[in-house]
This record gives sequence, C-alpha cells and structure tokens, in this order.
Amino acid sequence: MPLLPASPPPVPHSGAVSTSADSAPTASTEPASTAPGAGLLIRASRALVDGRIGPAAILVRGDRIAGVLPVDTPGDGTAEHVVGPDLVVLPGLVDSHVHVNDPGRTDWEGFPTALRAAAAGGVTTIVDMPLNSIPPTTTPEALELKRAAVGVPLIDVGFWGGAIPSSLGKLDALRDNGVFGVKSFLSPSGVDEFPALDPDQFAAMMTECARLDLLAIVHAEDPELLTGGDRPLGHHYRPFLNSRPPVAETSAVARVIAEARRTGARAHVLHVSSGDAVDMIRAARADGVRITAETCPHYLFFDPADIPDSATVFKCCPPIRGGDDRDHLWEAVVSGDIMAIVSDHSPSTRELKDRGDGDFGLAWGGIASLQLAFSASWTAARGRGISLETLLPRHTTGPADLAGVVDVGEIRAGALANLIEFAPDEVHRVDAARLEHRNPLTAYNGEDLYGVVHRTMVRGEVVYDTAGADPFTGAHPGRLITPVVRTPAA
Ligand SMILES: [Zn+2]
Repeated sequence: MPLLPASPPPVPHSGAVSTSADSAPTASTEPASTAPGAGLLIRASRALVDGRIGPAAILVRGDRIAGVLPVDTPGDGTAEHVVGPDLVVLPGLVDSHVHVNDPGRTDWEGFPTALRAAAAGGVTTIVDMPLNSIPPTTTPEALELKRAAVGVPLIDVGFWGGAIPSSLGKLDALRDNGVFGVKSFLSPSGVDEFPALDPDQFAAMMTECARLDLLAIVHAEDPELLTGGDRPLGHHYRPFLNSRPPVAETSAVARVIAEARRTGARAHVLHVSSGDAVDMIRAARADGVRITAETCPHYLFFDPADIPDSATVFKCCPPIRGGDDRDHLWEAVVSGDIMAIVSDHSPSTRELKDRGDGDFGLAWGGIASLQLAFSASWTAARGRGISLETLLPRHTTGPADLAGVVDVGEIRAGALANLIEFAPDEVHRVDAARLEHRNPLTAYNGEDLYGVVHRTMVRGEVVYDTAGADPFTGAHPGRLITPVVRTPAA
C-alpha cells in the first residue's frame, strides 16, 4: 500500500485527534499586522457571520481564519482580496452523505471526480459512505484502502464505517481507526456485499454502539412493508412510489427510536422523506431519546407529478414523495428538527439506470447531485421565502455537528479557512454533461437553479475559481479527517 502524505496515522481512541492537525484554534481576533504576504484579508460587502449577512473583512492566516474585522479596517500591507457586491462569502459547505464508490466501482464515481464536483458546488468537507465501493468500509483494512484511494485530496474527506452482520462485535476496530460512525440498513441496500441487519442484529448493533459511544446512522425502511423488491414496476413513477409507502419509513423509524431509547446509543436517521417520520423523531427527541434526522434536496425540490415516464434518474430510496410530505420537511428544515440537508450523492452508470429500459423497479436507485445540492435546496428555499441565513446551517454546522466534524461551517476566528463566494441571485441551467460528476446523469438536468459558486477556498488555499481559464487551480490542500474524541464531562 502506498504511503500517503495526507493520510493520518490510525487513531487511538484515547488520543485527541482533530481535523486541525496540530494547530490549536485561536479564540480571539488577532491584529492584521504581520509581514506582507503572511496572510490574506478578504473584504466583502456581504459575508455570513454569526447568522447574519453583512459587510466584513475576513483575515486568513495559514489554514485558519485569524479574525473577522470591520470591513473598513485599514490595510497594513497584508494582501487583500475584494469580493464583488453580487457575491456572498459563506463558510464552505459540509456534505456528510456522499457515495464515492471508490475503490471498486470507479466507473460509477471516484474520488478525483467527486471531489472536483464537491469543490465546484461549494462543498469543502465530505464524509464518504461505506457502501458501493468494493470492498465496503466494514473493516479497518477496507478503511485503509479507502484512504489510499483518495490520495492527496482537493477538499477534506472523512469516512463512515459499515455495520453489516459480519462486522458486529468488531465495531471498536472501525471506531479506533477513525470512522465518524457506522451505517446500517434495515432493508436491502442494493448491493450484495452490504447486507441489511435483521431486527435482532440491529438491536445487537445498537447495544454495541452504546457501549462504544459510536454514532449509528441508519437507512430506515421496513423490508416487510416494501412491496417492490427487484421486480419490474413499469415506466410510470407512481407504482414505484406506492411500493415504498410512508408506513415503511415510519415503521423502521419506530424501531430505531425504540432501540435508541433502550440502549442510550445515539442514532441518526438518514434521508428522511416522510413528514410523519419527522414528527416521530421530533417527539422522541422531546422525550430525551438521542436521535437526529437529515433530508436531501431532491425531497425538498421535486414533485412526483413532474417526474416523466422512464426517467429513472429520479429513482432513489426512500422515494420522492412531494405534496404534504415536502411541505412538512420544509417546516422541519426551518425549525431545525431536520438538522442537515445532504446530497446522498449516489451515482451510477447509464447502463444501471437503463436496466429494464426505464423500468422504475429494475433501475439503479440513487440520485447524483453532489455538485448541485446547495443550489437546488437554495432554489427551493428561495421559492418559499426562506432566507439564505435560515437555510445555510443545514448545509454547514448541521451536517458537521451530526458527524462530529469540528472547526468548519462558520466564519469565525479559529475556524478553518474554508470559504466560498456564492452568487445567490445568479441562475444557471443544469447541463448534466458539463458537471464534474463521473457520469452525466442527474435528476436536475435542464433545471434552472439559483446560486452559483464562483470561488472555493479550502484551508486557506483557493482550489476553484471561475475567473480562471481552468477553474481548478491545482492546489490540493484537503486532508483526510477523523473525529475529535471528546472526554466526557465529569
Ligand atoms: Zn445514501
């Protein structure tokens, strides 16, 4: 196995390993008074700081934000970059639900293409899902293969581990090697090498996670209530939607809540698509159960009535429900009952999407959207009168907090200098062939979306800038990240 300069050593559970390598966060604002070239002062008429958009001067030194100053702070020889009034400086986005499929299925996606798509979409940190790569990330050895596959990353990359029947009883090895938590399925995952847990196995996993203080992230659909299976369902979307009813989701969520309550383990429900499931999670939280929820832009953006026949690029599980469920999800996004909006970027080849010639039962399920997730959710939010300030935490601190990624998602002194310049009122028409994704397949093809990312900075270095002939600058300042292990409060 090649030795990688960016690869961290295995993480001892007792050691405090942070995303920040050695440099400790500075809590105070430093004066901008070092030698010329030692830092960069970014002057913006609009920057999102402390939850509000306003003028600010952001001092970057090394890989960190050294201070957030009044916009008219006099220059002192530090290099300056002035951001135009049509752009808002935002913290880099965090996407904790991305299937990169590398190694093993790099014809579906791979780290080089996925990380370019992320940077172009304003995402500066991803956490990679343990399945659809071969091998799946269910052992420490597989995790090392993942790290080797990344190489020197463009942006920061962390990993989820997988809890499948054969990894039960051995989850400590994954935890000790630096995964952010473990993913399991209650229903078939879609790939043979990542089997679901049956109810007894799921209960055993939750007991183990409680003992290890390991976050359990769960694909919650009840296989007993799914009627589709792998059989043809036809070219219309509706029979596929009906084959995965909301009750399949709520039944599985009830199981996750019951096990989180019984064991005290922390659980997170992935890609919630049903409003009733959100209500159950909210009630459980109010009752002290340690459970959180996320949703995805496609559940917030699309309506099933608009899905054309045979358009299997829209197939994902759980399905896009639209209507009252979509309204309900938006309420929970605004209230914070849904803490994160994540892409669930789940790409595949055209061949797999065309399996069955456009039959929704036979096609691969998964929506490719890493590069578009933020502009899609911003477009839908804007249409509902929801502000950028309200939406942004669901794409930054929400996913960071759920995974436990620190020092990202905010523009403040001490945070990593992960910054994007975003034109919220600029419209672009999606052309799947021009995206950075490995395959030109996305449900958003042809959509007019608001919001264009013009510049992406990772750890103080610009990696993407649309002003360049090639927007990718060649810098690769990303790191492979692992969780900070917190000492329990006395
Ligand atoms: Zn997923």
